[in-house]
Amino acid sequence: MTAGCRVVPVACLQDNYAYLVICEATGEAAVVDPSEAAPVEAALTREGVTLRAIWNTHHHLDHVGGNEALARTHPGLAVVASAFDHRHHRVPAQTAALADGESARVGRLQFSGILVPGHTLGALTLCGHGAAFTGDTLFLAGCGRLFEGTAAQMFGSLGRLGALPGETRVYPGHEYTVKNLEFAAAAEPDNREVAARLLEARARRKQGEPTVPATLEEERATNPFLRARDTTDFARLREWKDHF
Ligand code: ZN
Ligand code: FE
Repeated sequence: MTAGCRVVPVACLQDNYAYLVICEATGEAAVVDPSEAAPVEAALTREGVTLRAIWNTHHHLDHVGGNEALARTHPGLAVVASAFDHRHHRVPAQTAALADGESARVGRLQFSGILVPGHTLGALTLCGHGAAFTGDTLFLAGCGRLFEGTAAQMFGSLGRLGALPGETRVYPGHEYTVKNLEFAAAAEPDNREVAARLLEARARRKQGEPTVPATLEEERATNPFLRARDTTDFARLREWKDHF
């Protein structure tokens, strides 16, 4: 991670993660995908930082559920999501609309938005300082379901994320890693890195620890959806996983 930027996962609901993105120079923070306000407020107090912005990866309730309460208790809060979701008025309290390639800032930190349609048509990944907040597009060892987009769109979006530097730390919207690796082991029974990663992820969860983040390099070695050859191959895997 680039010096000066710290990421704190905040467990929300059943298996969601919000993340505090902290600018250490100024003590200011953005929160990615606040599912609910209370655990985010607790984390802000614990870390002793000031909330300046909400960054939403997409409009689903388990990612925006805390927006309104946080906007009320933190006057002047910037609420940033995609221009697509802004046009559709579907992110509560949204104040700023990012088009593909545009940036969001907190303190001295700058993150750029990559539009990644597939799970939803307005899905955004926020990327900067060696971190990528991928929402329900790229999970560790998996990817999101196709609720609004096509297999071709999702395959293209994963291709863009897969091209980020290998040391990029991936912070997804849910703790789905063990189930995803069980699928990966079925899809690629001869992949030893998948088998090893599954054991490691199970051990972490048994200790009550999060599996996040992972590096993109690990993902390229073990995530069957990033390893799909083409749209047809991706669609076959996605369909299989939907019923796995
Ligand atoms: Zn979602
Ligand atoms: Fe979700």
